[in-house]
Amino acid sequence: MTNSDFNVRFAPSPTGELHLGGARTALFNWLFAKHNKGKFFLRIEDTDTKRSKDIYTDQILDSLSWLGLSWDEPLVYQSNRLEDYKVHIKSLLSSGQLYHCFCSKNDLDDAKDKGHYKYPGTCRDLDADEIKTRLNQGISFTYRVRIPDGHTKYKDMIYGPIEVDHKELDDFIVIRSDGSPTYNFTAVIDDHYMDISHVIRGEDHVSNTPKQIILYKALGFDVPEFAHLPMILGVDGKRLSKRHGAAGVQTFREEGYFPESLNNYLALLGWNPGTEEELFSLDELIHNFDIHKVQKKGAIWDEKKLHWISGQHIMKTGTDSIIDKIRSKDPDWGKGSSISYLISIIELLKVRAKSLSEFISQSDYFFKSPSSYDQKALQKAWTQNSVNDTIRLLMDNLSTLGSWRKEHLQNSFDLFVKEHSMGLGKIIMPIRLAVCGTLNGPALYDILELLGKDESLKRINVALKELPKK
Ligand code: GLU
Repeated sequence: MTNSDFNVRFAPSPTGELHLGGARTALFNWLFAKHNKGKFFLRIEDTDTKRSKDIYTDQILDSLSWLGLSWDEPLVYQSNRLEDYKVHIKSLLSSGQLYHCFCSKNDLDDAKDKGHYKYPGTCRDLDADEIKTRLNQGISFTYRVRIPDGHTKYKDMIYGPIEVDHKELDDFIVIRSDGSPTYNFTAVIDDHYMDISHVIRGEDHVSNTPKQIILYKALGFDVPEFAHLPMILGVDGKRLSKRHGAAGVQTFREEGYFPESLNNYLALLGWNPGTEEELFSLDELIHNFDIHKVQKKGAIWDEKKLHWISGQHIMKTGTDSIIDKIRSKDPDWGKGSSISYLISIIELLKVRAKSLSEFISQSDYFFKSPSSYDQKALQKAWTQNSVNDTIRLLMDNLSTLGSWRKEHLQNSFDLFVKEHSMGLGKIIMPIRLAVCGTLNGPALYDILELLGKDESLKRINVALKELPKK
């Protein structure tokens, strides 16, 4: 199909959206291809017609595009290639490397009950006449691979030398009784047809690799290189699942993570450049990526680290560009406010936000006074009438302030607590609650300055009227 020395593929089954493990596999393949000036292909493994859905294919392609993991043409759909798989059956049959198996599901279940964890070889040596008779009787059958005696050895680019005794392998099925091909068969034929030089995929496929190598050899195909990526584990050391909040790529996109943050984080799941460096652009990842530096041990999914990386990418992003991104998520955001006001808000929030959604949710009070007060914050900051007395006194000072700049606000707050021998928290918390409705956010003086004197005093007066809530 192509003559690049480094052809890789990502081969998702469209039975669900693109989850993090799949995205990591796609990214590592993509980085490997880009680093080596090779090609990155996509193959949609949609032969399971019951479980495969077009909507998932669309979602997977959409997620990959959003991540920036562009693929080379052609995009291969296995469902279009069913005839091509059949072509190979005849030669494999005539060379004796495949055989008809007439065992029914019951036969196989019985064998299992008798302790055969592998196929017992019932139909392995049927003679030609017997096969003919059964075919004429219309007995349904599968095609199985006749595993030869011996060993399969290969050198995994990550796990090193792997050797499997064929005694451990089953005569596995390549064509089911309904005529549909199985994964191991289609994967080998397609990897050959697509001229794949390096198969990079999850560690869960290690057990398929010797079977596939046997098939490559049976079909007279060159065997590609293999690299199996370590599993992604939750912090409890168990396989990553929804339990760990392991959402699909779309969820991170909807949350407003930047694709570069997710790529950066995914790249570190099992790989590092051998230095302390952890922040990379996609170009830097391409430059630094080395499949031989991928570790064997499971990679831990650590949400805190993702947040940190995400925050770092946000810090590096120009404020104008953040505003554009927010607006593409929520076109009404900040409508009616001046651009300089919006810039100031983003500059304030930038230091702590990890996603676009956070900018949106945390900027709410810059555009309208709080419609309610956070319950927990209320409990902490304003439960007694004595708070009203203190804030009323403070208001006398604030309303006469000539300058509403943060330095002057800070001075005024400092003087007030000194004069009344109280902790700063006694006024900071209630004022924050009054102005923002919550106790989280950037420095209070920054918020007050940005909101301006009139708006700030108005909100404090409202709180004085409404609080404490009894
Ligand atoms: N469709 C398989 C999967 O999603 C592909 C495995 C492979 O890369 O060979 O796990």
